[in-house]
Amino acid sequence: MKRRTFLGAIAASSTAAALGDESLQKSEPAKAKPMKITLLGTGTPAPSLERQGSGYLFEVGDDVIVMDHGPGAHHRLLECGHRAIDVSHAFFTHLHYDHCMDYGRLVLQRWDQGADRIPDLHVYGPPPIKRMTDLLFGDEGVYGPDIRARIEHRSSIDQFEARGGKAPRKRPAPSVRELHAGDVIQGNGWKVTVGRATHVQPFLECLAFRLDGEDGSVCYTGDSGASDEIVALAKGCDMLIHMNHYFSGTAPSPAYRAACGNHRDNAETAKRAGVKTLVLTHLLAQIDQPRIREQIVHEVQQVFDGKVVWGEDLMQLTLAGSAVGKIEGY
Ligand SMILES: [Zn+2]
Repeated sequence: MKRRTFLGAIAASSTAAALGDESLQKSEPAKAKPMKITLLGTGTPAPSLERQGSGYLFEVGDDVIVMDHGPGAHHRLLECGHRAIDVSHAFFTHLHYDHCMDYGRLVLQRWDQGADRIPDLHVYGPPPIKRMTDLLFGDEGVYGPDIRARIEHRSSIDQFEARGGKAPRKRPAPSVRELHAGDVIQGNGWKVTVGRATHVQPFLECLAFRLDGEDGSVCYTGDSGASDEIVALAKGCDMLIHMNHYFSGTAPSPAYRAACGNHRDNAETAKRAGVKTLVLTHLLAQIDQPRIREQIVHEVQQVFDGKVVWGEDLMQLTLAGSAVGKIEGY
C-alpha cells in the first residue's frame, strides 16, 4: 500500500469509529514494518579487509532483497545474521566482477541448504545475466560437475534428505529476468524501477535501481557518473546510495570522471534530485582516511543540504534516518 493509500485507510477508519461501525474498524491494516537497509560491501575492485565488494541488502515487508553481490558481500550477509536461504530476490546493476562475484555462492549455498524446500531465487540484471547463469549452473556449466555429484552421489543424497529434501533432487534453477532501463518490477509491497547508469557502456549494460516501498524510496545507482537520467530516477527519494570512488579533481581523464563521478558531482546529483539523505559508498582506500573523509563530507554539504552518510560495511540504515535528540540522562 502506498503511503497516501495508508493515510486514506486511517482516515476511513476514523470515520468508521465515529460512525460506530466495528466491522469497518477491524479492516484497518497494520502499519508495514520500516524498510531496513544494510550496506554489505562498500568497497571497490581494489583489495581491502575493511570494505568488501559491492553489495546492499533491503528488507522490505516479507522479502529480503540483495542488490549486487560482489566478492565478500555474501560473508557480510552472514555477519549481519542472514543466510542465503533467506534471500528472495537478487538484483544486479552491471556485471563488473566487484558487483557479482558472490552470485555463485549465493545460488549454490541457497540451493544446498534449501534442499528443495524453498522457492527458486528471483534474479534480475542486465544481459548477459541469463548466459552467466547458464555458464555457472547449467549442465555444461562451471559448477555442472559439482551439481551432478551433489544430486547423484549417495552421500550427498543422504545429506539432502537429512535436511528435509525428497529425492530426486532438483538442479538449482534461479528464475532470471533480464532488465533494461525503463523496466518496472512489481513486488509484494515494493516496486523497483530500472534506470540507466552512466558507466562502461557499450561493453557492459549498466543499470541503476529505484526501490519504492510503503514507507519511502531509495535509489541505488550501481556504478555511475553524473547524469540527468540518474537525477530523474532518484527524484524525491528519501535516500540515494551513490558510488563515491575518488576525490574531485584527481581523475586521470574525462572518461574516468564520466564513468565514476566524484564527490562534487555526487553533491550536485543529490541536490538536483532533492533527496533527503546521500549515502557515499564504493570508496577507495585513498580517500577513506581521516581529514580527507571529513573534507569530502564538508564539501558535499556546501552544495547539498540533506544528510550525508559515509558508508561502512554492515552499516544499517532506515529511510527515516537518525536525528540528534535531547540528552536523556547525564
Ligand atoms: Zn563498475
